[in-house]
Amino acid sequence: MIIGMLNQKGGVGKTTLSVNLAASLARTGARVLLIDADPQGSALDWAAARQGEPLFTVVGFPRATVHKELNHLGHGYDHIVIDGPPRVTDLARSVIMASEVVLIPVQPSPYDIWAAAEVVSLIQEAAIYKEALKSAFVINRRIANTVIGRDVKEALAAYPIPVFETTITQRVVFAEAAAQGLSVHEADPNGAATTEIEALRDELQRFAP
Ligand code: ADP
Ligand code: MG
Repeated sequence: MIIGMLNQKGGVGKTTLSVNLAASLARTGARVLLIDADPQGSALDWAAARQGEPLFTVVGFPRATVHKELNHLGHGYDHIVIDGPPRVTDLARSVIMASEVVLIPVQPSPYDIWAAAEVVSLIQEAAIYKEALKSAFVINRRIANTVIGRDVKEALAAYPIPVFETTITQRVVFAEAAAQGLSVHEADPNGAATTEIEALRDELQRFAP
């Protein structure tokens, strides 16, 4: 499966979810490639912070030809996760063209959800040429012990893109693990963050079998 993690907004969790989803897929025994398509190279920084064995391969490819190079780059891998760039550019378009499934992390705030209109239009543009393209929102940084507000649900329902049932809660372990180049599973194997990431992988694999 080829998964693009995309939102032109920064700080929504593209890199956090890319790294942890890649780790979760790798834990199933699959060969996983993470392509860092953000010129900032955060996923590469994550990999560089890591000591010990890699869980999966990370390569940097922040160029608008990623969809053309994917066959070559991704040769021999079962799953490819592409950590997308901020901003709407040809690079973001290329990531969509490369993907089978686009996941859009959004924070549960009306402002973030309104801002998602941009990435939704990009996906709709691409869907004209790529009928099989699938996409879904993933709510990230939900505040623990709160429900997603009705305003947020209504705003999301206005888009023609489904919302994953799995939500990822705001948890400090995501940042703590990242600082050491670890997945949350490695930092806190029995923690709630790990359970949520496993649920995300499971829902993704049911969404795009
Ligand atoms: P993006 O790649 O979209 O810019 P990042 O994944 O870098 O976003 O996340 C931005 C910041 O928010 C980082 O410091 C990251 O550690 C933190 N973060 C992301 N998701 C969570 C979460 N669920 N809980 C806590 N911190 C998070
Ligand atoms: Mg990032």
